Amino acid sequence: MTDECIFCRILAGEIPCFKVYEDDDTLAFMDINPVHPGHVLVIPREHSANVFEVSDAAIAATAKSARRVAKAVRATLEPDGMNLLQCNGEAAAQSVQHFHMHVLPRAMNDGASLNWELKPGNMDAIGALADRIARALA
Ligand code: AMP
Repeated sequence: MTDECIFCRILAGEIPCFKVYEDDDTLAFMDINPVHPGHVLVIPREHSANVFEVSDAAIAATAKSARRVAKAVRATLEPDGMNLLQCNGEAAAQSVQHFHMHVLPRAMNDGASLNWELKPGNMDAIGALADRIARALA
C-alpha cells in the first residue's frame, strides 16, 4: 500500500469503484474512462509499479482473474473481440503506477488505437454494466 497510489486507495476502500470481482489476491473494477463499454481493470492487491516489479505470484493471480473477467465480459456483451492489455511506462501510455491489466472488449473496425485519450464515461451506464458483469461472475 502506498498513500499516493490511486489503485492502493481503491483497494483500501478510500476511493469508490464499480467492483465486478475480487478474491484474496486481486480486484477487478470498471475503468471510468472506458475505451468501449465493458472496459474492466484487474489489479493485484500487492503494490508494484509495473510488469518489471510485480511478483510472479501477483502477475499470475492477476492474469487468472483477468481471464475469468474476460469470460464474464464476453458472456455479458458478446463483443466481436477482446484485448487483454498491460502498459508499462509513459511511452506505452501507462498513467497509473500500480500494475494492472485491461480487459478491453472490441468491435470490428472500431478504430481504437493503443494510445487512447481519456474521456469520462457515463457513470450510470458504467455502474449498470458493473452489476451485469458482477452477476456473470457470481
Ligand atoms: P494505464 O494507462 O494502462 O495506466 O491505465 C490506467 C487506467 O486507469 C486508465 O484507463 C484510467 O481510465 C483508469 N483509471 C484511473 N483512475 C481510475 C479510477 N479511480 N477508477 C477506475 N479507473 C481509473
